[in-house]
Amino acid sequence: MRAVILEGFGGVENLRYVEDFPEPTIKDDEVLVRVKAVALNHLDIWVRLGALAVKPELPHILGADVSGVVERVGSLVKNIKEGDEVIVAPGLSCGVCYECQSGHDNHCKDYDILGLKTRGGYAEYVKVPARNVLPKPKNLSFEEASSFPLTFLTVWNALVNKAQIKPYHRVLIWGGSSGVGVAGIQVAKLFGAFVIATAGSEEKAKKCRELGADVVINHYEEDVVMRVRELFKEGVDIVMDHVGSATFWKSVECLKKGGRLVFFGTTTGSQANIDIRYVFVREIQLLGVYMGPRADLFKISQLFERGLLKPVVDKVFPLEEAGKAHEYLETSRHFGKVVLRV
Ligand SMILES: [Zn+2]
Repeated sequence: MRAVILEGFGGVENLRYVEDFPEPTIKDDEVLVRVKAVALNHLDIWVRLGALAVKPELPHILGADVSGVVERVGSLVKNIKEGDEVIVAPGLSCGVCYECQSGHDNHCKDYDILGLKTRGGYAEYVKVPARNVLPKPKNLSFEEASSFPLTFLTVWNALVNKAQIKPYHRVLIWGGSSGVGVAGIQVAKLFGAFVIATAGSEEKAKKCRELGADVVINHYEEDVVMRVRELFKEGVDIVMDHVGSATFWKSVECLKKGGRLVFFGTTTGSQANIDIRYVFVREIQLLGVYMGPRADLFKISQLFERGLLKPVVDKVFPLEEAGKAHEYLETSRHFGKVVLRV
């Protein structure tokens, strides 16, 4: 099959397009999906760089966010058939442990993400357990449908499950133009919250406002903490941080007493200095987030089908140009998602 394989850890030169990679063989409870589109995530870049504690065996295939058509199903699969148009839930788990059975599959001891340790979607075909495929929202193209699972699942877990977002909340979303940023703005607005987003240019700020952000702060030109405190003297209820070292403490300083910081992703590094006393005196909650329960993806998918959430695809590259797509994502010129068409 056609695939982009990762042959070593480091730069984009380690990604190679081939046409003769062996097709995956499915087990009885698995399905083979003919990939139509696969969206990029920063995760892909971390895995390519070998920057995570967990490294896949090489050659590896990246790609967590897949849409496509079911090509073949295992003998035990009843609810899905050949020809179904589907999206893939990127979180892989055992399916039988206590955590999996109680709806916390992202706490499973065997938890993995498609394209992290397991071969993913930068290929003509990918295999996944049958429980990982969902119907594609009918109103979305394959490119659009591949663009939301990982980011919206993580953001939903952060804002809805962990931060318990309410209509009267004021929410700060760092990096509103990123994949998780556009998800954060939309989910927060869906719940009726007041949304402050940050963006790095006037063009991106305009697009954040079009998505629903009430106020946009330029994080290169303005002091974000000061601007937030000018808007709301006591601070905001929720901050969503996926930037890491550069913003973590600023996020805490933006919060009101009892506020909640939800965080995941560390594009600027994973070390932060914390003044413990500042945090406990103000009863600030630091809530780590890693993906989210698979079941939430069904809810999110329905919201896309009803038009209440919108996919934001910035640019589509052909599969062969996966390296170029990585470089494009790394230079942060995008607004929303970068997708590979297979
Ligand atoms: Zn499990």
